[in-house]
Amino acid sequence: MSEYGEYPGGEKFEPWQDHEWPEHCSVPATYIGEIGERELAAMSGGNVEGFLEEHDAAPTGDPITLDMVPPQAPAEGETWESTIHHFRCTNCGWDLLLWDAS
Ligand SMILES: [Zn+2]
Repeated sequence: MSEYGEYPGGEKFEPWQDHEWPEHCSVPATYIGEIGERELAAMSGGNVEGFLEEHDAAPTGDPITLDMVPPQAPAEGETWESTIHHFRCTNCGWDLLLWDAS
């Protein structure tokens, strides 16, 4: 069991770095998976940069910019050196984005 196994979806979460588990509405968010620019474009209605800023799970850190975002969710066996982990609030459904890099 990974160190994140106690969180919703945590068994799928395999980050490069150690991260605080994102919370929203004072509850741990559910991990959905890795996403890239293609998925973010669909989720944001085209305003990817605004979406990255608004949904940053760690807003006190460096902002997530487009050059940190991979082109798309990784295919099976594919890894991105710089990637975006997608979480969703377990309570209200708000999307949370966590940047992670090797
Ligand atoms: Zn919420």
